[in-house]
Amino acid sequence: MTETDVLIIGSGPAACSAALYTTRAGFKTIMLGGKNFGGQLVQTSEVENYAGFIDPVNGFELMDKMHKQCKRLGAEILQKTATSVKKEGNKMLTELEGGEVISSYAVLAATGATARWLGVEGENKFKNHGLSACATCDGFFYKGKTVAIIGGGNTAFEDALFLTNFCQKVYLIHRRAGFRADEITIKKAQSNPKIEFVIPAVTTKLLGDDKVTGIELQNPETKEIKTLEVQGVFVAIGSIPQTKFLQDSGVKLTETGHVAVDSKHRTNIEGLFAAGDCQDAVYRQAIVAAGSGAKAAIEIINYINQIK
Ligand code: NAP
Repeated sequence: MTETDVLIIGSGPAACSAALYTTRAGFKTIMLGGKNFGGQLVQTSEVENYAGFIDPVNGFELMDKMHKQCKRLGAEILQKTATSVKKEGNKMLTELEGGEVISSYAVLAATGATARWLGVEGENKFKNHGLSACATCDGFFYKGKTVAIIGGGNTAFEDALFLTNFCQKVYLIHRRAGFRADEITIKKAQSNPKIEFVIPAVTTKLLGDDKVTGIELQNPETKEIKTLEVQGVFVAIGSIPQTKFLQDSGVKLTETGHVAVDSKHRTNIEGLFAAGDCQDAVYRQAIVAAGSGAKAAIEIINYINQIK
């Protein structure tokens, strides 16, 4: 069995920021890179909203720098995946694929989330070519364009309003007439002249050759099919937190499947903390994940100092 002070499960911004703090506090820290090494950022071409970079930074490059920084400070990064976590005495035992077990005083779950996609024709082809799941990240690239946002929750509505800052027109497309978003946000969107509601409408296809030029929709009631000309499509239909490895741990999850934490990033299991998108249904930004990783690490340091 491998022994460490802190085991960080994940290798995105939350995981890396946490490792900077725990290593600098003198704790032996192991990070598990997992299958999605570097998290969602490595698939992002340009990051313009992470403080400290005058020009946009490539997502892969940003994560590469974070990993090198963690290693310089002494963190060990293993390209391995956790399959389960359990508490035994004052230690956490984490099992990895292949059966290896790592024992630690604290575990930080920083496994992130993946955007929920529609699963329609054209989706894989157009990711980063007119199709995005992050209006905050990519909206700026659609200055003066017509775009569609898909979803009926707070994210879709807030994104639609945000996109009106750049775009000449924003279609808000939702599969049914009722929305999950808050009433006040719905009203704001309804009174914004740049937003046109297309409801009820199910997205059936994304159109275009090398980038998005349109979207095909079907009215689920009348079955009528229509197309809209758009240069960008933003999908805002929720995210899928990566928490499968915690399913037998006894950890509490929220209604949306995110790890439930208190303001100190503690879960209901002493010694198990969570940070980043696996516990955040709302903000889902790299900079927020990094901040939450740092916060969780400070709490982990306090916790280990108390129990050691
Ligand atoms: P959400 O509230 O779960 O809404 C997801 C929306 O996507 C729903 O309208 C759902 O439709 C639709 N949807 C789901 N799967 C779909 C599919 N396969 N095809 C088409 N549409 C689909 O997700 P969210 O908007 O990302 O919000 C997540 C959480 O964060 C919520 O609790 C939300 O309130 C919160 N949030 C809060 C704020 C804020 O307070 N400022 C901002 C953003 C998010 P149906 O309604 O038909 O199921």
